[in-house]
Amino acid sequence: MQASILIIYTGGTIGMVQNSKSGLLKPFDVENIMAQIPQLGSVNSKIEAISTRSPKDSANMRPSDWQEIGQLLFDNYEKHSGFVVLHGTDTMAYTTAALSFMFKNLSKPVIFTGSQLPIGHTRTDALENVMTAVEIALLQKNSVPIINEVCLYFGNKLFRGNCVTKISSQNFNAFDSPNLPPLVESKLDLEVNYSLLKASNSNKLNFNVALSEKVFVYKMHPSITEQQFSQTCAFVDFNVLILETYGSGTLFNNDWLLTELLKLRKKGVEIINISQCAYGNVSGLYEVSKYMDDLGVISGKGLTLEAAIAKSMCLMASETSKMNFKTLFITDLAGELS
Ligand code: ASP
Repeated sequence: MQASILIIYTGGTIGMVQNSKSGLLKPFDVENIMAQIPQLGSVNSKIEAISTRSPKDSANMRPSDWQEIGQLLFDNYEKHSGFVVLHGTDTMAYTTAALSFMFKNLSKPVIFTGSQLPIGHTRTDALENVMTAVEIALLQKNSVPIINEVCLYFGNKLFRGNCVTKISSQNFNAFDSPNLPPLVESKLDLEVNYSLLKASNSNKLNFNVALSEKVFVYKMHPSITEQQFSQTCAFVDFNVLILETYGSGTLFNNDWLLTELLKLRKKGVEIINISQCAYGNVSGLYEVSKYMDDLGVISGKGLTLEAAIAKSMCLMASETSKMNFKTLFITDLAGELS
């Protein structure tokens, strides 16, 4: 297929301008962004740009926004060979994780990017991020795209969309993928890590728009009281509880915690163990937390929190995957456990 890129603007600092009264940054429009990247005119391929209904600060993104972005990608999938999505950095890793699970059989690149400084700023990082994201989306071998998945490009690195997390609100290197090296690094040349790439597939693209919102995250810490924990469990409606635990997945073993977790398991709640450490895995090495295995708590291994939330929301959205939740959760569905 002839190379052609669709840029989808969803909001974020990249396209923001200063509100003349308050001086605060707010999203502007896609024409403004395109006008400020004249370099796109020298790319030897067709480039089109559209935007979501109401571009926003990504702090305002909800699952309905992931669904809207997914639907735009799905509706335009056949017309283009690759996609670049401009998105705010604050929740970009949640969106990329969600879309990586919502799509099955992608055979084209979907590259998210954004910037720390607006495109109109003299020291903006937007130009490099957008131009390289476009260049990566255009990479082909024998007329077939090299990248076949949802990714995030930022600070000279292309990350798998469900392994990446925002690590800095200040640095131009705002993202990291703690447990998976970058798929591509932008140096003088684009250095592609071929051994990590997904093989191209010719199966029909599938877009699962349904998402369950009954997923709750509890960050554990030494001063949590029984009352805080038990009241949250009693009054919040969830069917997946993601516990952010310590180190390699350890957690205190007070009687009250065991009792609360057992109550949840009896109600059919799935409990997932995710470490607060960015690097490494939930390993189950320590006696103190053996009770979690006994209760059927699922190891989140080296998943990012964003990926654990998105995977749970996707799996809980269909009756069939809900019934096989544990088996599917520990299975590598979209490269998230690689
Ligand atoms: N608040 C902005 C957003 O996430 C930050 C950014 O884009 O860097 O939309």
